[in-house]
Amino acid sequence: MRRESVERGDIFVISAPSGSGKTTICRELLSRVEGLSLSVSCTTRERRQGEKDGVDYYFMDEVKFGKIADSNEFLESASVYGRRYGTSRRAVEAIVSKGLDAVLEIDVQGGASVKAAVPEAVLVGILPPDWETLRKRLFARGRDDREEIERRLAAAQREIRELGRYDYLVVNDDLETAVRQVEWIVRARRLRRERTTGVIGRILGRGGEEKDGSSNG
Ligand code: 5GP
Repeated sequence: MRRESVERGDIFVISAPSGSGKTTICRELLSRVEGLSLSVSCTTRERRQGEKDGVDYYFMDEVKFGKIADSNEFLESASVYGRRYGTSRRAVEAIVSKGLDAVLEIDVQGGASVKAAVPEAVLVGILPPDWETLRKRLFARGRDDREEIERRLAAAQREIRELGRYDYLVVNDDLETAVRQVEWIVRARRLRRERTTGVIGRILGRGGEEKDGSSNG
C-alpha cells in the first residue's frame, strides 16, 4: 500500500482503565500498523516481573523524576495510584520528527495534558463492555491483591467518566474487533493528514496549474 511521505508524524494517545485490555490492544496495533512507534514513559513505580528497563518504562527514583520534571522535559506527567509517570518530550519528538506516529499509552490526566499542548493529537479511549466484566478481568489476571484491585476500580470510575472527552471510544468486548477499530482510527487519521500534505501536490506536480485549462479563462 502506498504511503505518502510525511514530514512529521502524529500523536495517538491510548487510555483506558486498568483491566480494559489496553496493553494487549497497543501491542497488536503496533504489530499490524506500519509506521507506529511506542513512546516509553518514565515512572517511579517498581518494576514488575518480566518488565525491562528502557523497554516497558524507564524506571527511576523520585529524585531523578523530579529533576526531569523541573527541567520541563516532560510533555506531560501525572500521579497514578500514588506513583509518578511522565512522557518525555524528547522521546516523542524523536518519533514524530522521523515521520512516524507516536503511540502514548498513558492515563486520562496525561491525555488531557497532551491535548492541551498538542491540539491535533488524537485521543482514543478503550472501555470495558460493562462494569462487571472490568471487575472480573482485574481479579482474573491475578496480578494485584484485593486492596490494589479496589483502588484500581475506584480510579476506573473517574477515568471512564473522563474518557467521555476523548476523540474516539472503543469498547473492548471482543479483542479482535477492538484492535481493528483502533487500527481504523489510525488509518483514517492518516488519510485526513494526506489530504493536506503530499497527495494533491504530487498529482498536480509543479505544472499543475498550466494543465488546468480553466485557470486563464
Ligand atoms: P502501570 O503501572 O499499570 O503500567 O500503569 C498505570 C497507569 O499509568 C496506566 O493507566 C498507564 O497507562 C499510565 N501511564 C503509563 N505511562 C504514563 C505516562 O507517561 N503518563 C501518564 N500520565 N500515565 C502513564
